[in-house]
Amino acid sequence: MAENSKKKGKVYLIGAGPGDPDLITIRGSSLLSSCDVIIYDNLIPHELIVTAPPHIEKIYVGKSASAHTLPQEKINELLVEHARQGKNVARLKGGDPFVFGRGGEEAEYLRKNDVDFEVVPGVTAGLAAAASAGIPPSHRDMSSAILLLTAHGAADHDLFVDWDWVGKVKKGTVIGYMGVRQLPTVVEKLIEGGMPPGIEAAMIERCCFSTQKVVRARLEDLPAEAERQNVNPPAIFIIGEVAALSEKLEWYNRKMLSGVRIMITRPADQSRWIYQLFRNMGAEVIAYPTIKTRYNDDKEGWEKFIRSGGKDNWLFFSGENGVRYFFGYLKSKQIDLRLVGRYAIAAAGHGTLRALRDLGYQPDYAPSVSGMVKFAQQMCEDIEVHKIKLIRVRGQLPHDNIAEILKKGGAEVHPLTLYKTEYADWRENEIKRLFMHPPHMIMFSSGKSVDGLVNILGHDKALELAAKSKIATIGPTTSEVVRKYKMEVELEATRHSIPDLINQIVQYYQKK
Ligand code: SAH
Repeated sequence: MAENSKKKGKVYLIGAGPGDPDLITIRGSSLLSSCDVIIYDNLIPHELIVTAPPHIEKIYVGKSASAHTLPQEKINELLVEHARQGKNVARLKGGDPFVFGRGGEEAEYLRKNDVDFEVVPGVTAGLAAAASAGIPPSHRDMSSAILLLTAHGAADHDLFVDWDWVGKVKKGTVIGYMGVRQLPTVVEKLIEGGMPPGIEAAMIERCCFSTQKVVRARLEDLPAEAERQNVNPPAIFIIGEVAALSEKLEWYNRKMLSGVRIMITRPADQSRWIYQLFRNMGAEVIAYPTIKTRYNDDKEGWEKFIRSGGKDNWLFFSGENGVRYFFGYLKSKQIDLRLVGRYAIAAAGHGTLRALRDLGYQPDYAPSVSGMVKFAQQMCEDIEVHKIKLIRVRGQLPHDNIAEILKKGGAEVHPLTLYKTEYADWRENEIKRLFMHPPHMIMFSSGKSVDGLVNILGHDKALELAAKSKIATIGPTTSEVVRKYKMEVELEATRHSIPDLINQIVQYYQKK
């Protein structure tokens, strides 16, 4: 009885799509923010992991370059184990979970062990590669069949694929997975099996990434051409008349930032709109936050806020984080929002203003000046600060310049310290992946995020990364920190705002 009454967990076998985090399904994405644990593979977009809520446990079980981190049996057991603890498990797999991803075996094991599961399909790499290379795998005049196959094991004796049979496919399209190393063998066997050597073919490396590579050739020339153009895994090959359309229908690399990889180091929960913006412009986003924030319970500060208010009482926000943690707390504690109405609101910085407006607040004081110190000085000029009591919503700081300036002007300042900033940590496989495809541009929006990079990688490795990339900063203070570590600054925002920084980056690549 006791055993039965326990909450039962469930495993969701979710397809993450081919690598662009926007290509996961809405169902998959919503499960990633509501599950208890995410168990994920290699080739899963890092952004899906870092933007999942911080309380969710994340377990990496993927392949590293040379060896399996965890054998399949262990992964199966891990799924069962977590489900039996009553947890909902998001088992995140590349592409579609049931297409060459061993999702079938996992489902069988779960059924055998009486664990509930659901399968959430994903965009499989073969079809994604066709789409992003401008190759319609079915076409009224050229192809009425699509064959997905794996080339893994093509060189072995006990072949699964009957290449003679595949070689006889007519008016169809053959799409191959895991075929980079095996390509010469595969092509040889297909031609032996009857495939015309002159038929059109293509190879697509890292499809759906801004830096995807498409190599076109006749079938017999494809291995040599792929080698010449240095095609690396992961890649898909496509064979069939339709491959010729790739030239005519090329659409992928036509955006402003196509081919550019940009690394964003600010905390992921504040950066989704930046990821989105860059991706819309065609860039590949490397979502590698170097810092993260954590809630800080300031009982005294909250007491002050709840008991004060009225004439000459102000709330002072100086960052999106403050706004987020402030209103998040009120909501979670079911504190009536009308309490905020007893305060005038000052909002320093473009992002702060936007965050407040998103919630429906129109701040009473929000001049557009660049930099927090200037903002506080301006406020002392514009408002009779000696008359006011001010609740300063902020993160933990060693030294609060802003409060000092306002106090000097005569204001009574009470801190409400709502979050701490900490360095993020990256797993070894994530660092490896970063160095495999290093960013063209690293974006820093605070000195602390630079410290974070050096803290995570160590100074030598941080320098190594910086040498492969250019650095863009939000302003002189951040640039100073970059230079302190002997790294070079290529770009600096002039108006100390993220939108301005983004603009500068876009202009930089347009000029090139
Ligand atoms: N379940 C996955 C396939 C896993 S097998 C799916 O449905 O897509 C791994 C193979 O998928 C790789 O060897 C490569 O052939 C292919 N692949 C995965 N992501 C890819 C990408 N972004 N571009 C090209 N090929 C990719």
